[in-house]
Amino acid sequence: MRGHGDERMSEQVIIVGSGPAGHTAALYTARANLKPVMFEGQAAGGIPGGQLMTTTEVENYPGFPDGIQGPELMEAFRRQSLRFDTRIFTEDVTEVDLNKHPFTVTSAERTLTTQALIISTGATAKRLNLPGEKTLWTRGMSACAVCDGALPIFRNKVLVVVGGGDSAAEESTFLTKFASKVYLVHRRDALRASKIMQERVFKNKKIEVLWNTVVTDVLGEDVVSAVRLKDVETNTERELACGGLFYAIGFTPNTELFKGQLEMDDLGYLITKPDSTHTSVPGVFACGDVQDKKYRQAVTAAGSGCMAAMDCERWLAENEK
Ligand code: NAP
Repeated sequence: MRGHGDERMSEQVIIVGSGPAGHTAALYTARANLKPVMFEGQAAGGIPGGQLMTTTEVENYPGFPDGIQGPELMEAFRRQSLRFDTRIFTEDVTEVDLNKHPFTVTSAERTLTTQALIISTGATAKRLNLPGEKTLWTRGMSACAVCDGALPIFRNKVLVVVGGGDSAAEESTFLTKFASKVYLVHRRDALRASKIMQERVFKNKKIEVLWNTVVTDVLGEDVVSAVRLKDVETNTERELACGGLFYAIGFTPNTELFKGQLEMDDLGYLITKPDSTHTSVPGVFACGDVQDKKYRQAVTAAGSGCMAAMDCERWLAENEK
């Protein structure tokens, strides 16, 4: 018997990461009888379950017409993985060795070897770590306008978006559907976003760009009611009343573990072969936000988790592992 219940033997597949991508990969590999092992860690994403754990209402995951709380959705994903006997270890993976096969995966508690590895460690949205952020996060603050922008608390409010890249341009444009006005706050005097996205921002009458400006704090009792802004040229500060603050200052893919072992792009995202989840090492697959800087949605992550499981199953069969 290979793997199951005996930690000295090689597993067939280990999944690192427990967001929508990881759990969908677990579900599909479990139902393919590959007896997956999942590590759900805390170090990289902050909490097992990924970014949905710090979201409130999820209204854009198909199948939930009335919406669902992010943590509740992830609990359902987890229960479904367990139902098909995924073994889940709540431990951070501290090291992986992909240089020899079978691969080695190490946590503080154990070292396992595996024929195939599915990486779904996600990405972490950067935050400004403002003083008011601890109490107001998810109470009018978010790092995903596409996920949260349509929530009732943001309707017909003045909203603030921080950043100057494609995300900031896209998200401020998106938010004008719901907001009475959107301020795009950028620390320099030029956007980094692509020209076409910039034009959309400049043409939109609901968006006002505040150049050379940084947000120094977010204020509010129960929910966001204002931000404190600083003009970096004059050093003058002022308060701006608003009902929401969105960060669009980039993401950090959680790929520290794989540096030097897998091909990454210049931002650190894992590179997968076109139309597949194969990474640069045969038998190692990547899915979800760790390899996707474009779509970043729970449903696209789940879809790519399914792809990784199917690629993995085929690879194991073809290589008779
Ligand atoms: P990004 O390109 O890294 O832009 C981050 C922006 O946030 C920059 O303008 C940066 O300012 C600003 N910023 C970073 N740290 C900050 C801080 N501490 N305080 C204030 N401002 C800060 O990130 P992104 O916009 O998320 O895009 C990431 C990648 O995804 C890009 O390759 C982008 O093209 C792609 N993307 C594509 C699409 C699309 O095609 N639809 C949509 C979204 C993203 P500076 O400019 O001064 O550095």
